[in-house]
Amino acid sequence: MSETFAALDVASRQYRLLDALDPAGVDGLLVTTLTNVRYLTGFTGSAGIVALTSTGTTLVTDGRYRTQAAEQVAAVGLADHVTIVIGGAEAQREALQAALDGADRVGLEADHVTWAQATAWEERLGRPPVATSGLVEELRAIKDAGEIDRMRHAAQIADAALGEVLPLLSRAGIDPISESTFALALDSAMRRRGAESVAFETIVAAGENSAKPHHHPSDRLIAMGDPVVVDFGATFEGYRSDMTRTFCVGGQPTGALKEIFDLVATSQAAGVAAVQPGVSAGSIDDVCRGVIVEGGMGERFEHSTGHGVGLDIHELPWVASQGTAILEAGTVVTVEPGVYVAGVGGVRIEDTLVVTSSGAEPLTRFTKEVAA
Ligand code: ZN
Ligand code: ZN
Repeated sequence: MSETFAALDVASRQYRLLDALDPAGVDGLLVTTLTNVRYLTGFTGSAGIVALTSTGTTLVTDGRYRTQAAEQVAAVGLADHVTIVIGGAEAQREALQAALDGADRVGLEADHVTWAQATAWEERLGRPPVATSGLVEELRAIKDAGEIDRMRHAAQIADAALGEVLPLLSRAGIDPISESTFALALDSAMRRRGAESVAFETIVAAGENSAKPHHHPSDRLIAMGDPVVVDFGATFEGYRSDMTRTFCVGGQPTGALKEIFDLVATSQAAGVAAVQPGVSAGSIDDVCRGVIVEGGMGERFEHSTGHGVGLDIHELPWVASQGTAILEAGTVVTVEPGVYVAGVGGVRIEDTLVVTSSGAEPLTRFTKEVAA
């Protein structure tokens, strides 16, 4: 692969996190969420904790990751900035305790720590930890150029994979294929094109199943005239894409189904057009929901309009009614209104967009042509 990507600016993340500590009422932070550990250090192992204070950053993990941790921290340019301690559970706790020695108020990631863990840390540190929420997650909501390059590439992999397997849907009327077989073909096409994994479990929902927003692909055969919701994404170097297209097998939809397709397409286009710097996430939900309410289907749009995407498939900001986060350049959000009518079918259309200084760039670019 000849494509080159901008470097990930990992070092500046730690400085921005340090700036966020005082407003959160802490002078040290224990980062126990693995995705956040990765974001701050480049380390992708399945076990690891970071202690961060103004005097330094310590990463602890166990012997399985001795080489990997050193390599990954060096790869993001932090070999001189992050102290890596390898050892068993007790040695790790001692190292973290020592790293936090000068911090009177140690924050824990309250959204991800159990009661038992918080109690154990209080005993270990000899002082009560402070509950913090979303400190790293709020930094993650704004992507740097290297992150956007990787997300764009993940989206390109997904677009190309769908293009490759779409003929299987077009032929489904004469050459039957099940939801799960189509999902498997799509997943393997993404892997062959360089995805390290799927971004989440692929949704393929045909006919009556399309009315269930998060249907699990089954052995139901896809038939002529079926609406088919395909919601999927690729992961590339940790970064995920997310896209939904709804097709109609064998031609254009008719009747009540056509009305749903048209309404969701109008709603989604309006939402995409509204994504720009300076607007609230909630206003995107208002725009999409307004079109569907106007079309008399408000109570059939039962989920929020979208979400942030990045190292996690669902992350800040939430694109939901009352969402107060303000979009700014580097924010990545999905716009995915849907209408689901039991007995008729469901339609969802979703794109992932990155907010730019003047508007938004869609990362997912697959055609919205309905006829498959
Ligand atoms: Zn999706
Ligand atoms: Zn989504």
